[in-house]
Formats: sequence, C-alpha cells, structure tokens
Amino acid sequence: MFKEGCVFCGIVKKEINAKIVFEDNKILAFDDIKPQAPVHVVVMPKYHIDRLSHISDEHVNLAGRLVLAAKKIAGEKGIEDSGYRIVLNCGKEGGQEVFHLHLHLLGGRQLAWPPG
Ligand code: AMP
Repeated sequence: MFKEGCVFCGIVKKEINAKIVFEDNKILAFDDIKPQAPVHVVVMPKYHIDRLSHISDEHVNLAGRLVLAAKKIAGEKGIEDSGYRIVLNCGKEGGQEVFHLHLHLLGGRQLAWPPG
C-alpha cells in the first residue's frame, strides 16, 4: 500500500505536513509546495502506484475519481468558470519528479500552450 521513502506516502500517513484541500477514502489532495499558478493542487491516490504507465483496467475507478476530485476542487477554488488545466506527468521525459501517481490541478491565471 505504501512505499518506503515516498514523500507522498508520507503525506498520506501524516508524517509529512501538507495543506490538505480534499480527502476521501481513496483520494488525497493538497496544495503544491512550489505552486506554478495561483491554484496548484496535487491530487493523488492514498496508496502507492509509481506512475501512470503502471495502471491497468483495475484502476479505472481510481482514474475517474482523480479527475472528479480535481473538478470538485476547481469548483471550491472558484476557477470552474475561468478555466483550469489538469496535468499528469509520467516518467522522466514527462517531467515526473515524484514517483507516486498524481495529477496537478492548475488555474487562477492564463496558462500557456504548448507546455515546455
Ligand atoms: P511531478 O513533477 O509531476 O512529479 O510533480 C511533483 C510535484 O510535487 C511538484 O510540483 C512539487 O512541487 C510537489 N511536491 C513535492 N514535494 C511536496 C510536498 N512535500 N508537499 C507538496 N508538494 C510537493
């Protein structure tokens, strides 16, 4: 369920502090420590999966829950109408730094496209 040394598992276990903005029995979301936008929330499963390329059909419910949690948080943060972006970095070239599956909810400013 947890991986030794994983920062995000540490947040689930409440061993590492984070500003939690949403929590249910499967999902935890918290403000990013280095925000790239006025709203920057990390949304992740409460158990350890390294990366998107490790999920399969059994995770279809989890994948849906992650996206729905992001949408709910966007509403609570007041950016539903102005717009926002969900980003999921996978692997080194995808820009993933923390190898515990998560998505980013970004908003509160005009976001550029394409990303770097
Ligand atoms: P990624 O590059 O997709 O793996 O994103 C990892 C994100 O986690 C980065 O935006 C980091 O700023 C964020 N992050 C890393 N450690 C923490 C932490 N302890 N609390 C909150 N956010 C964190």
